[in-house]
Amino acid sequence: MTPLPTIFVSHGAPTLVIEPLPTHDFFIELGKTLPRPEAILCVSAHWEAAEPMLSGIAQPETMHDFYGFPDELYQMHYPAPGSPALAKRVAIMLMQAGFSAMTHPKRGLDHGAWVPLKLMYPQADIPVVQLSVQSRQGAAHHLALGKALQPLRQEGVLILASGGATHNLLAFRGQPADSPVQEYAAAFDVWLDTCIAEGRDDLLVDYLNQGPSARRNHPTPEHFLPLLVAAGAAGAGAQGRRIHHAFTYGILSMAAFAWD
Ligand code: ZN
Repeated sequence: MTPLPTIFVSHGAPTLVIEPLPTHDFFIELGKTLPRPEAILCVSAHWEAAEPMLSGIAQPETMHDFYGFPDELYQMHYPAPGSPALAKRVAIMLMQAGFSAMTHPKRGLDHGAWVPLKLMYPQADIPVVQLSVQSRQGAAHHLALGKALQPLRQEGVLILASGGATHNLLAFRGQPADSPVQEYAAAFDVWLDTCIAEGRDDLLVDYLNQGPSARRNHPTPEHFLPLLVAAGAAGAGAQGRRIHHAFTYGILSMAAFAWD
């Protein structure tokens, strides 16, 4: 089997699923153009845990893990099945690589997972397992986590990392989605694109020191760390490519990357 690409997407605000933004259309197109996976392992910024956790439930609930958004979003569901067998297999793979991974018996799908997936695979007929991020363990840990997951690509499992290329929500003050792009966000976005195109895992791991205005763009790490998992699963020094480029609210890069 040809290995599947690994993917990083920026999921933006939950309203992306109902708003006619360019990234909404990109997700629909992405689902149509990727080779159809047998299962999806989604690393979401919205599940933080001290150690790697895998959602191990057969029928995960749709989590509405956001506040103050339109009612329509709270009525939405993404009824894709889980895969307890895949969750267990991934937990074992990670343990063999030295991580203390565990399955979670109840965890549902958070919006970092279901917002992109509802657009990519609206039939909800591909099993989805979620993997948590470990914000306190930093970038190198997540690159290593990705490396341990690399064999899954040969088995038809799509590694879909979902976070944000830039994510300074402190700068969100209700401005329109099409606001002018802030320079500090644009600079980080360009830096990120260059690192990925050149396969510079060493710079990505040191993003807080290497990336322009890194701490301003990522005041907390959880939306950046999924990218390291996708890069790690691509293999050491693998060159990725940008498959989508947009900004929302002038501060959120909606960039997406693929490593083939
Ligand atoms: Zn988010």
